[in-house]
Amino acid sequence: MKGYRILVLPGDGIGPEITREALKVLRFVGERYGVGFHITEALVGGASIERHGVPLTEEVLDLALKSDAILLGAVGGPRWEGLDYSVRPERALLALRKELDLFANLRPAKLYKPLLSASTLKEEVVEGVDLVVVRELTGGLYFGTPKGVERLPDGMERGVNTMVYTTPEIERIARVGFRVAQKRRKRLTSVDKANVLETTELWRKVVTRVGEEYPDVELSHMYVDNCAMQLIREPRQFDVILTENTFGDILSDEAAMLTGSIGMLPSASLGSAKEDGMVRAMYEPVHGSAPDIEGKNIANPIATILSASMMLRYSFDMASASEDIERAVERVLEKGLRTPDIYSEGTTKVTCSEMGDAIVEALGE
Ligand code: NAD
Repeated sequence: MKGYRILVLPGDGIGPEITREALKVLRFVGERYGVGFHITEALVGGASIERHGVPLTEEVLDLALKSDAILLGAVGGPRWEGLDYSVRPERALLALRKELDLFANLRPAKLYKPLLSASTLKEEVVEGVDLVVVRELTGGLYFGTPKGVERLPDGMERGVNTMVYTTPEIERIARVGFRVAQKRRKRLTSVDKANVLETTELWRKVVTRVGEEYPDVELSHMYVDNCAMQLIREPRQFDVILTENTFGDILSDEAAMLTGSIGMLPSASLGSAKEDGMVRAMYEPVHGSAPDIEGKNIANPIATILSASMMLRYSFDMASASEDIERAVERVLEKGLRTPDIYSEGTTKVTCSEMGDAIVEALGE
């Protein structure tokens, strides 16, 4: 039997509640598809600070480096807000991203029909939206040097940030973009500002060249200002959007809002290949640890369940299992089951664990 090692890091706040539900789903899928998921759970973030004094121990980092995929809940909360930045729960995420070299961030925005009315846009515009933003995560304006604020001799201050990309950095994120497109509807829109920024002129050139290796994927280019507009005007035109760090930060939030609810949004961060050829990857909901609803069993587990579904698609090449999960989520929503964050009149309010159970049940139907 095929087997994968999954490291589960529930973290803080609602993290343990939502990862518990995602694990129910993974166990069910493992049995149905005859795949062994070897699951190890460990502490991260505030939970690790309480036990070990640090947000990420060497042991857990080592487990992360050895695992085939990581499923993370969320970290952070008011209990640790007074701590020095170097030992805050969020440092664990930064360290994991850095040590695993997670340079590609994938954020899907898929509108589930029963939640059409949750979007702030007109239903006829957002119905059927199903896209992914692939964002470069470790380069560009946020990391380029020189950076900083300096005081000039005349007393004036001057702030500088630098948008830098090298050919290999663009090539590797472009390959992720094309491979993601191959696993979807095979259309890739590369977003840049090549009419103004030389860095993104290089981006366009390199993406075009890499595209020749993927003749089955239809590549187009779009300026970022136009893309921001098109996402609101006609979002259904997109399948995969590939873009650099800053543009991706903004566009992925914009795309997320097409669908309405933060409790529904999954994400994946992918890195380079391990020795055995598998790509390092961490899957987590977009939302945080929601300390305001911690321990009440009312959090929406769907973002985490859909993150596990992304794990199946992108790490384990189990696209049909991933589609099964998405369909099960849709069916449960069609039945009118809602956690409080997506509740509306006429639907049935359920708890976090009831939502997980209902999704597992729908998978078995
Ligand atoms: P948040 O996403 O945790 O919560 C924002 C609001 O959305 C809250 O009202 C919360 O109850 C609600 N919410 C979030 N997820 C939900 C879910 N699954 N179901 C139902 N409601 C949900 O953001 P915040 O309040 O700004 O941050 C809280 C803590 O989370 C902070 O310590 C922050 O640093 C941390 N955080 C962690 C991550 C991460 O681990 N990746 C990301 C963002 C924030």
